[in-house]
Amino acid sequence: MKIPFSPPDMTELEAQGAAEAIRSGWITTGPKTKEFERQIAEYCHVNKAVCLNSQTACAEMALRLLGIGAENGGSSFDEVIVPAYTYTASASVVCHVGAKLVLIDSQSDSLEMDYEALENAINEHTKAIIPVDLGGIPCDYDRIFAIVKNKKHLFKATSAVQEAVGRVAICADAAHAFGASWHGKMVGSIADFSSFSFHAVKNLTTAEGGALTWNIPRIDDGELYHQAQLYSLHGQSKDALAKTQLGAWEYDIIGPWYKCNMTDIMAAIGLAQLSRYEGILERRKEIIGRYDAAFRKLGIGVLMHYTDKYQSSGHLYITRIPGIGSEQRQEIIVKMAEAGIATNVHYKPLPMMTAYKKLGFDIKDYPNAYKQFKNEITLPLHTKLTDEEVEYVIEKYCEIVEEYV
Ligand SMILES: *Cc1c(COP(=O)(O)O)cnc(C)c1O
Repeated sequence: MKIPFSPPDMTELEAQGAAEAIRSGWITTGPKTKEFERQIAEYCHVNKAVCLNSQTACAEMALRLLGIGAENGGSSFDEVIVPAYTYTASASVVCHVGAKLVLIDSQSDSLEMDYEALENAINEHTKAIIPVDLGGIPCDYDRIFAIVKNKKHLFKATSAVQEAVGRVAICADAAHAFGASWHGKMVGSIADFSSFSFHAVKNLTTAEGGALTWNIPRIDDGELYHQAQLYSLHGQSKDALAKTQLGAWEYDIIGPWYKCNMTDIMAAIGLAQLSRYEGILERRKEIIGRYDAAFRKLGIGVLMHYTDKYQSSGHLYITRIPGIGSEQRQEIIVKMAEAGIATNVHYKPLPMMTAYKKLGFDIKDYPNAYKQFKNEITLPLHTKLTDEEVEYVIEKYCEIVEEYV
C-alpha cells in the first residue's frame, strides 16, 4: 500500500465547477467569488466574509485593517503575540506589517499557548493576539477573552477599527478550523478576526485560497469589506468587473496597496467543496474515532477532537509517543515510510527555524514547545482514505510504536 499524507479530495463536481468558470468568460474575481464569500459568511454565521488567495493574506489583512505595524499607519513598537508552536504563517504576517513579534511557549501538557505567559506578555504596546486552532480544535476562547478584558486598561487604540474592538484584538489563525465550533458557535464568529486556509492540504481546498471573517459589533461591516477589497486589489477604486460596465473605464488609486484577490476558478472549486463539506467533516470524524480507539489503548497521546465544549474540524491527527526523543521519532517515521505510509511533524517550533533565530528567538526559552515537538508524529487523515487503508495505518503504527512504549 502507498498512503499519501494529505492528497486533495477532488471530484467531478470540482472539475465541472472550474470548467464552468473557465467557459463563462469570467475567470478572475467576480460572481463566483462573491457567491463563495456569501456562502462562507452564512456557514460561519457572520455578515461578511472576504476571500483572498491564502490564509496568510487574510491574516495579514486583519492586521492591516486594524492599522497595526509601521507599514500600516501604526508603529514599529506595536506588539503582536503568537504561539511558538505553529506554522510560520501565523507569525510571519506580524513581520510583514512591521510590528514586533512576541512568541509564547506552550503549556506543559497541551499544544495551546501558556495562557499565564500570554497574560504576562501583554503591555501597553500589545495590539493583537494570534491564537492558533491547532489540528482544527478551537483554542480556549473563554480564557483568551477573559485575559484581554483583564488587560483592557493598558490598551491604547490608534485606529478606528482598534477603537471599535476596544482592547487587544484576537485574530485567530483558523487555517485548520473551518467548520469547527465552540460552545455551539462556529469558528469564524468567535474571535474578532478569523482567517481560514483553503490550501491544497487543508480540509476544504481551492488549491490556494483563504477567507477572512470578523465579529466586531461596533463596526460597519460593509465599510470594512470595502476596505479589504481596496487593500487586496491595488487600492483601485473599481474592480475589474465594475470596469466592464459601459463607459466605466476610469478609476482612481487610493493607496499603493496589495494584490491578493481570489479568482473565480478557485471560488468555483471552493463552492463545490463547500457543497460536499458536511460529508467531508463526518468522514474525518469517523476516521478519528477509529484511530482514537486503537491508539489510546497503547498509551499514545492523542488530541480530544470532540467534547461537550467544542467540535473540531478534524484537520490533523497529531500523536505523541511517551518517553521517546527525536531520534526514535525519526526511526518510527522512516519505518512508517517503509510500510508505504507518509507521516509528518506538526510543528517544529518557530524558535528552531533560521528566520526566527535571526530575530533573536531561542528554543531554550520555549521548553514546553520543544517537549511537545520531540515525540510528535502526525498520521494521514483525509477523505481519500478507504476503510482498509485506515485499518492498515492502525495496524502498522501499533506494530511499529509497540517497540518504543
Ligand atoms: C496552512 C497554514 C497556514 C497558511 O495557509 P495558506 O493558505 O497557505 O497561507 C497558516 N497557519 C497554519 C497553522 C497553517 O497550517
